[in-house]
Amino acid sequence: MKCGLCLPYCPTYRQTGHEGDSPRGRIALMQGLATGLIPASPGTAAHLDGCLSCRACESVCPAHVPYGHLIDAGRALLRQHRKPPALQALLRDVLTRRWPRRILALPLWLYQRSGLQFLLRKGRLLGRGRLARLESLLPRIDLPLPLPLQAKDNHRTKVALFTGCVGELADRRTLGDTLRVLDRLGIAATVPHAQGCCGALHQHAGDVAGAQRLARQNQAAFQNADTILSCASGCGATLLEYPALTGNEGSAFSSRVQDVAAFLLANGAGALPLKPLKARVALHTPCTQKHAMKQARATRQLLEKIPDLEIVSLDSQDRCCGAAGSYLLTQPAMADALLAHKLDAARRLAPDYIVGGNVGCTLHLQAGLRRAGLNVPVLHPVSLLAQQLG
Ligand code: SF4
Ligand code: SF4
Repeated sequence: MKCGLCLPYCPTYRQTGHEGDSPRGRIALMQGLATGLIPASPGTAAHLDGCLSCRACESVCPAHVPYGHLIDAGRALLRQHRKPPALQALLRDVLTRRWPRRILALPLWLYQRSGLQFLLRKGRLLGRGRLARLESLLPRIDLPLPLPLQAKDNHRTKVALFTGCVGELADRRTLGDTLRVLDRLGIAATVPHAQGCCGALHQHAGDVAGAQRLARQNQAAFQNADTILSCASGCGATLLEYPALTGNEGSAFSSRVQDVAAFLLANGAGALPLKPLKARVALHTPCTQKHAMKQARATRQLLEKIPDLEIVSLDSQDRCCGAAGSYLLTQPAMADALLAHKLDAARRLAPDYIVGGNVGCTLHLQAGLRRAGLNVPVLHPVSLLAQQLG
């Protein structure tokens, strides 16, 4: 239709005002690329690489244009003409593979626990450039990485927890707190060891074969699970896309995937004995939770179970924070420009906590707050719930 109704909702178009950075412009570029009318030039690639895959455009499109699938296909086309950017390829090769990730965790853990990180940060010895920004994104590493299996025969329900590659490395608190809350609800959780990365980094980089390989690995790892719980909406959104990757097997898998907040709400979270918390929480709703998982309300409803808690939106316009998978590393200028809106909101609202349901957003927000000298903890809604368990 090319109506342009999606343009005001596109975060990158709002930043640059350039048609090539809008959904309509990107679709036109991809159309040109597919028909051979437009070459796979660096300029074309820059506009397509600049898309956050946030799918805000898809949610408002009156013609239901499946933009998420289009941009993945467009990037797959680009991949036929160029090698993937080095940083993107490195992230995919290290982060998403179990043993390279676990080997990397040890020097990072030593770097943090030896005090070297504290000294470098305190003395601002890395300066203010790209290296310092990269270092500021480093999450707290906890060892050992594999989570303990937890399955109690007396529990009434059984679920399997999807940990994700970044989640396993950088969000062990959320995963551990989820196991605790599930246990209190009488729900047994297993953590299948054979699971892998969800495949988001591959899929959004146009590496269809890589995404399919990971989808099949997860389908095998979770074949006996009735419910597959995702604590990171970025992963959850990708798990829901498996039908497009592996057909019927993907459909059988994705029909069992649930967002952890929605699952807890439906399985007794309202009856948990929770201590009151007189605090202000600023809620960040990840794009993947809104536009892909369609669970935008679940986190707020879960937090409303905590007595006395004041819940405000971090950003009334609910813009993308700029994290978007590896985007925070590969497109730092746009990622930080979008993050600036969130940091302004944090200054204005002065919350005691910022809460969000996706590890990528959490890392991006934490790093930005730290760089801006704002001391606000950022955590997963389930961690706040677990903290208030009586
Ligand atoms: S993607 Fe949808 S909303 Fe955007 S220009 Fe095309 S038809 Fe209009
Ligand atoms: S996915 Fe997000 S960044 Fe990409 S075109 Fe749509 S609204 Fe813009």
